[in-house]
Amino acid sequence: MRSDYCGALRSADIGREVTLCGWVDRRRDHGGVIFIDLRDRDGIVQVVFDPDAAEHFEQADRVRGEYVLQLKGRVRARSEATVNPNMATGEVEVYGIELEILNIAETPPFQLDEHTAVGEDVRLKYRYLDLRRNEMQRNLRFRSKLTTAIRNYLDDMGFLDIETPILTRATPEGARDYLVPSRTHDGKFFALPQSPQLFKQLLMVSGFDRYYQIAKCFRDEDLRADRQPEFTQIDIETSFLGEEEIMSITEGMVRGLFQQLMDVDLGEFPRMSYEEAMLRYGSDKPDLRIPLELVEIKDLMTEVDFKVFSGPANDPKGRVAAIKVAGGNDKLTRKQIDDYTKFVGIYGAKGLAYIKVNDSTDLENGLQSPIVKFLPIEVRAAILERLQAQSGDLIFFGADSYKVVSESLGALRCKLGEDLNLYTSEWAPLWVVAFPMFEENDDGSLTALHHPFTAPSCSPEELAQNPLGALSRAYDMVLNGTELGGGSVRIHDQEMQQAVFRILGIEAEEQREKFGFLLDALKYGAPPHGGLAFGLDRLVMLMTGSDSIRDVIAFPKTQSAACVMTDAPGTVDSRQLRELNIRLRLKEEQVG
Ligand code: ASP
Repeated sequence: MRSDYCGALRSADIGREVTLCGWVDRRRDHGGVIFIDLRDRDGIVQVVFDPDAAEHFEQADRVRGEYVLQLKGRVRARSEATVNPNMATGEVEVYGIELEILNIAETPPFQLDEHTAVGEDVRLKYRYLDLRRNEMQRNLRFRSKLTTAIRNYLDDMGFLDIETPILTRATPEGARDYLVPSRTHDGKFFALPQSPQLFKQLLMVSGFDRYYQIAKCFRDEDLRADRQPEFTQIDIETSFLGEEEIMSITEGMVRGLFQQLMDVDLGEFPRMSYEEAMLRYGSDKPDLRIPLELVEIKDLMTEVDFKVFSGPANDPKGRVAAIKVAGGNDKLTRKQIDDYTKFVGIYGAKGLAYIKVNDSTDLENGLQSPIVKFLPIEVRAAILERLQAQSGDLIFFGADSYKVVSESLGALRCKLGEDLNLYTSEWAPLWVVAFPMFEENDDGSLTALHHPFTAPSCSPEELAQNPLGALSRAYDMVLNGTELGGGSVRIHDQEMQQAVFRILGIEAEEQREKFGFLLDALKYGAPPHGGLAFGLDRLVMLMTGSDSIRDVIAFPKTQSAACVMTDAPGTVDSRQLRELNIRLRLKEEQVG
C-alpha cells in the first residue's frame, strides 16, 4: 500500500512520486491550502493539498486528527522560509495528488502532544493511542534493537536460547507467587515462575553448557515505583565457568550494548565488597556518581551523655554514622532539612540530627545544632576531624540499628545527590561481590540473601557452624544506583544444597516435596555451574533515560497490579469456577 515511510523522506527524494500511509497528526487550513502532518512509525512529514486537485482537496478538507490515510504525492523542497530544522523531514514536503481515507477516527480522549495533561490512568486505558506518541515509539524501538543486540552477542558467545515453562512450581526468589489453579488436578496449583532459576540449572545438568533466555518472570509483590508484577529478564546460565569468567562475559555484553547503541564507553567495572558498599554508601547498589559517603562514628559515641547516640553506639547491632555535605550550610534551607527528616522517616529513622559547621576553629560556639550541647568538646573535635569538615559544611547523623542507619543515610545520600546535582559522571557501573549467604530476620530465622541455590565460599561444615558469617559466590551488577542484574555460582553438590536448606529451616520432608527433582538431578552428575539474570526493563529504562519502567513496556500494569485497558484481573463465570472446583468465599458471604 505504500512506497515509503513518512518519516524517512529526505532531500534526496525530491522529485519522486511516493505513496504514504499513516495517521493524521495535525491538519491545518491556511487560507485555501490544507496542510496535513502525516505520521507513521518512522516520523512525520508535511503534505500539502491545494484546490487544484479538486476532488482530493475536498477529501483533505474532511480529515481530522488520527484519521488513517493513504495518499499519493510528489516530494518537493520546502521554500527556504518554511524549512523546519526541528523535523527530520523538515527540508521537504509532499505535494498531495490523491488522498483516500482508509478509516476515520473519533476525537481521541487526549491529544497525543498533550499527554502530560491527562493522568497516567487515562494513558494506560487508551494505551494503543499512548503508544502512538513519538517517545513511546522510540522507547519500544530501542528495546527491540537492544534485545536483538543481546541475542547477537550471546549467540556469538555460543549461548543457546532455550524456553522454560510458565506453568510450573514455585521457585523461591523471595516474593509471593502468582498461582494458577489446575482443572485436571483437583485442588492443585501451578505457580508462575519468579525466574527460570531451577530449569536453567537443570539445563546445565543436561549438558547444554551455555543457556540464555529473554524470559518473562512473575512476582506478586506490593509494587514500588520501579517494579512490575510481570517483567522480563535476560536469563543466563553457564557450566564449567567460575565467577570471574561469568562476570567478564556479562560485563562485556553490557559494555558492548552501551558502545553499540549509545556510543558510550563504560570502561572496566570496578568491584566492591558488600561490606564496603554498606559501610561507605549504606546500600548494596551504590550510586557511585555521587561523591558523598557515610562515615562511621560509632566508636566516638559510646561515652556521650546522649541516649540517641550512645544507645546504638553500645549495641552490637547498632550503627552511628554521618554524611558531610561540603558547603551545605548555604545550599540547604531549614525547610529542606525538615523535609529530609521526613524523608529518612520512610526508612525507619526516628529523626535526622545535623550540625552546621559555621566556624570549624571554634568548637565552643562555631557549631550550630540542637544536639551539639550533648557532645563534649573532644567528641566535636573528633567528628570534625574524621569527616574532614570545614567551615560552611553541613553534617547529617544517623543513629539506630545497622539496617535503619544504612538504609536511611544511604537513601539520603542519593536524595542529596539528586537535589544538589552532585553527580560527577553520567554513568557509574560496578560489581558488588562477597555478599553474605544469609540475612537474619527479626525472629532470628535466616533468609538467603540471593536465593537458596547460591554457592557459599566455604565448606558445608563451616557454613553450618557460622551461617551468618558465611559469604556467598554471588555478584550483582549495579549502574547508577540501580541493580541491573545479579547472579552467582550455584551449589552443584547435593550435600551442600541440603545443608543450605537445613539452615533455612526447610526440613527433609519439605526439601523432598518441593525440590526433590533438583536434589535428584544433583545426584546424576551435575557440573559446576553459575549464571546471572539482568532486568531488561530497567536496563531499557536507564538507557532511554525514561522516568518510569512503565514507559519502556508496551502494556504495563498499574501500581495496583491491574491492567486498566483490558480490565484484568477480571471475574470469571461460575461454570469456569465449577470446573476448577473453586468456590469464592466472597460470593458465599454475599449470597448468605
Ligand atoms: N534467578 C536469579 C534472579 O532472578 C538470578 C540468578 O541467580 O541467575 O534474581
